[in-house]
Amino acid sequence: MKPRILIVYTGGTIGMIEDAATKALRPFDFSHLMENVPKVKKLDYVIDNIQFQTPIDSSDMDITHWQSIVRSIADNYDNYDGFVVLHGTDTMAYTASALSFMLQNLRKPVIITGSQLPIGEVRTDGEENLITALQIAASRDADGKPTVREVAILFENYLWRGNRSTKRSADNFNAFRSNNYPELAKIGLGIHFRRTSLTHTDKGGGLEIYPEMDTNVMAIDLFPGLSRCVVEHMLAAPGIKGVVLRTYGAGNGPSEKWFLDALTQAVANGIVIVNVTQCVNGGVYPRRYLTGDKIASTGVVSGHDITFEAAIAKLMHLFGRGFTPAEVRKRFSRPISGEITVTKHSK
Ligand code: ASP
Repeated sequence: MKPRILIVYTGGTIGMIEDAATKALRPFDFSHLMENVPKVKKLDYVIDNIQFQTPIDSSDMDITHWQSIVRSIADNYDNYDGFVVLHGTDTMAYTASALSFMLQNLRKPVIITGSQLPIGEVRTDGEENLITALQIAASRDADGKPTVREVAILFENYLWRGNRSTKRSADNFNAFRSNNYPELAKIGLGIHFRRTSLTHTDKGGGLEIYPEMDTNVMAIDLFPGLSRCVVEHMLAAPGIKGVVLRTYGAGNGPSEKWFLDALTQAVANGIVIVNVTQCVNGGVYPRRYLTGDKIASTGVVSGHDITFEAAIAKLMHLFGRGFTPAEVRKRFSRPISGEITVTKHSK
């Protein structure tokens, strides 16, 4: 049986062409993309596609686009062995995180890829990325089950867990990285899967689909000199339910009274505030320093080693499911799709 793969084309540099007037890159259609990758035919797969009516630069991505991707995969879940999502790199890590919460209990691969150079350019990385993504989506273990059963990002030499990934370079072909979780596969002469990193939980039941996302979330990025007026103003934003507080180091921040009072008041008002470190590597250890301890005592929840992208998507997902602030707090502290590692120090 030939592997059956569905490509969902959303846009991104991979399919872009130069605008004749401005010379800036703009999204273009899927047939143009495929014409530039004749090698795909050498793969003995059945490949179908669904494309966004208007392919987009991923900077225009919003939750309605996530919902379209989810629908494309969910509606076709039983008919294909794997899915490849072609996407711009700018918001790829956000989409990967969101999809990992919107599509749970996956038994099939959802591989997201794109490129730094358009597929029509001689030195493009798009051709290799697309072909490798298709091969990973088709890969099966000796028992016939898909090798990858989660949302992952394939880019250049690595396959990363989607909700652990971050775009780290606007220039390098290895544009993504997971700073707190090892690669799922290393791509060299062959595709070398790292079996111990792949999620293979089999809790039974079918695909769980959670299309609702609540966008009443925001982020506060700490920096020395951040003013009281700005913090109080942000926490009083109408309708806000969740806040990602980007803190220093192991989850630390100012211990000034006005700051701690503002957090305490917001938590008392039912806002869920999660503590995510600004560091690219490592996580929150809330009780390690007095400054972190004081923040934790206001009721701010530890984000452990979560990425910023996954924290935003996780809050949107949990509020989208209609959970109360108390439930969101509880569920945020537990992994849903392998996005955090909880240790006794990170609680
Ligand atoms: N601006 C582009 C996008 O995210 C960048 C890329 O695809 O690499 O759609």
